[in-house]
Amino acid sequence: MTEREVPQVQHSRRQGGAQAQARSARGGGALLVAAVLLMVTGALVYRGGPEWLAAWLRGKPPGIVIHHSATPAVVRGQPVTAAVLDQAHAGRGWGRRDSSGRVYHIGYHYVVLADGTVQAGRPEGMRGAHCDGHNDMLGICLVGDFTAERPPAAQLRAAEDLTRRLMAKYHLSPSQVHRHCDLDSTECPGKKFPWQRFREALMSDR
Ligand SMILES: [Zn+2]
Repeated sequence: MTEREVPQVQHSRRQGGAQAQARSARGGGALLVAAVLLMVTGALVYRGGPEWLAAWLRGKPPGIVIHHSATPAVVRGQPVTAAVLDQAHAGRGWGRRDSSGRVYHIGYHYVVLADGTVQAGRPEGMRGAHCDGHNDMLGICLVGDFTAERPPAAQLRAAEDLTRRLMAKYHLSPSQVHRHCDLDSTECPGKKFPWQRFREALMSDR
């Protein structure tokens, strides 16, 4: 290699480097556009797209939160149901629309009535509105106020069975099932809620 060739080689290397940088800048720009498109599409689907896709984007719920409704089980002769809670939650701005256009105001995914009837709230694939900072978890609400009395046996049993079914479906352990009061400053689901018994029922295989 002569002395004259050296600067040329360096020069052409610099050029090559500049081209590569330009190429990588273009690639980076395209990647950014793709990422933004993906985020926008994801957000749209998440809010109102097909439920299976929303559920897939949302991923598996990281846990289950147990609530009480802090209402009597029956108000003015009418049992408090998922539909009643849906009405009660309307206007709080928690509503979410599914792919069919139906709006779910109710923040819980399931409601368990005093007689053990289980009613669906918002779909499992839809983000909840039941526990600040943990709405990626599924919310189960037992109708009643357990600050003063225990839930009826049938209701408790139904809530245990429902929780176990959801734990199996989403591969959750008992340690991923929480009371609302374990995650937020609230008394929910009430100090008369037999948490120890509930936890033990989740761990037994009946
Ligand atoms: Zn609660």
